[in-house]
Amino acid sequence: MLKRIMAAAALTTSTVFAQIAPTPEAEKQLARDIYKEMIEIKSGYSTGATTPVAEAAARRLRAAGFPDADIFIGGAIPSKANLVVRYHGTGARRPILLLAHTDVVEAKREDWSMDPFTFVEKDGYFYGRGTGDDKAQAAVWIANLIRYKREGFRPDRDIIVALTADEEGGGPYNGVQWLLKNQRKLIEADVCLNEGGWGESVGGKRVSNDVQVSEKYVVNYRFSVKNAGGHSSLPVPDNAIYHLAGALDRLSKFIFPLKTNKVTQAYFSAMSKIEDPSVRDDLAKVANNDPAAMERIARATTAWNATLRTTCVATQLEGGHAKNALPQLAAATVNCRVQPDDSVDYVTQTLKRIVADDQVTIEVDGAVESGPPSEMRDDVMTAVRTTTEAIWPGVPAVPMMVMGATDGLYLRAAGIQTYGVQGFFYDRDDIRFHGRDERLKVQSFYDGQAFLYELVKRLTSTR
Ligand SMILES: [Zn+2]
Repeated sequence: MLKRIMAAAALTTSTVFAQIAPTPEAEKQLARDIYKEMIEIKSGYSTGATTPVAEAAARRLRAAGFPDADIFIGGAIPSKANLVVRYHGTGARRPILLLAHTDVVEAKREDWSMDPFTFVEKDGYFYGRGTGDDKAQAAVWIANLIRYKREGFRPDRDIIVALTADEEGGGPYNGVQWLLKNQRKLIEADVCLNEGGWGESVGGKRVSNDVQVSEKYVVNYRFSVKNAGGHSSLPVPDNAIYHLAGALDRLSKFIFPLKTNKVTQAYFSAMSKIEDPSVRDDLAKVANNDPAAMERIARATTAWNATLRTTCVATQLEGGHAKNALPQLAAATVNCRVQPDDSVDYVTQTLKRIVADDQVTIEVDGAVESGPPSEMRDDVMTAVRTTTEAIWPGVPAVPMMVMGATDGLYLRAAGIQTYGVQGFFYDRDDIRFHGRDERLKVQSFYDGQAFLYELVKRLTSTR
């Protein structure tokens, strides 16, 4: 059934949409070279620097003839620079901003089966920290910008590429926040394309090209228990570690209620037409808020579970100060990914209720940032849909809310409509962002390069 629908779609669309010309080999090689160079720069969020990535990209741009006047390098501190480059269009429309972050989550050699900062092509995959998050997109933005210039492409609006620092974990050196505050006119744009949406495949088969329109927001909590302590030879029942362990045990058994919103309803509705026939009925019901169907779909994959509810999970632990002392402190970080319409207060009150132990102090750790969802703009959604159709006939572009948070929330809060779209396809059960042996299929990288090249052209050409 699924195959028949796909074939029919392919037949009708091939006559409607122009074929996309294949990317010239030299352009693929350029993108690969930039990608490799970026992966091998250690830009770990807490121990590395993004400035060498910005400088490497600037060297490529200068070599391609971009004038210094159109290249900006700067940031919160010398090691955390951002790059902003402008390719001038006719100015008929306000600019488009192409964003990617250049810092990566830390990766330790001993945790990986290979060196995370050596770019490796093996068994049809590119391996290395940042291959998925987010250096593929950073490399492709630069390579494609160079290609537009080489081809003499004249967009109807400026194309701005910003490669920014410290998206992972935010913090004081976050490049998007810094640019908004200090160099806003450099990145002022009508619309922004960013990470956050990718292609989903199941068993190697492409099922959807996702467009992130909205995102969950992050709240970190610190659970802490303080205790007078004492000598471990004289234990008492009132123990800080046991209080904390009990709290975390209760948290581990708790789940937030299931629910949908406008974007996730559109997502599940689209998926109900393309997913495996055995779950289509349930997906359609989820789009209509059917509680029993939501239960089944949430159980089906961790991604759908995270789409349908706020989640909170313990991520870090500390406690005790000596082997032979009763602990005076036990603490944990609990990382929550909150649905856009759940409030911080609601999550805090829920956690307190679940933990139900007044020895356990529950506090929000750090600032909470959340932005409004972008509108599902016709021009953007149409360009994504038609480009997707032209490259992968029968694969729909699906609006979605992502589980992780991105820098898009700062831009949305600042009034720049931001869409997460990449065209890099990942198997739904093999998402390794932030994890060990991070990888991207070689074919997916080049397909994404072609997709983004064409998509940006469509969004910068008046027809
Ligand atoms: Zn990222």
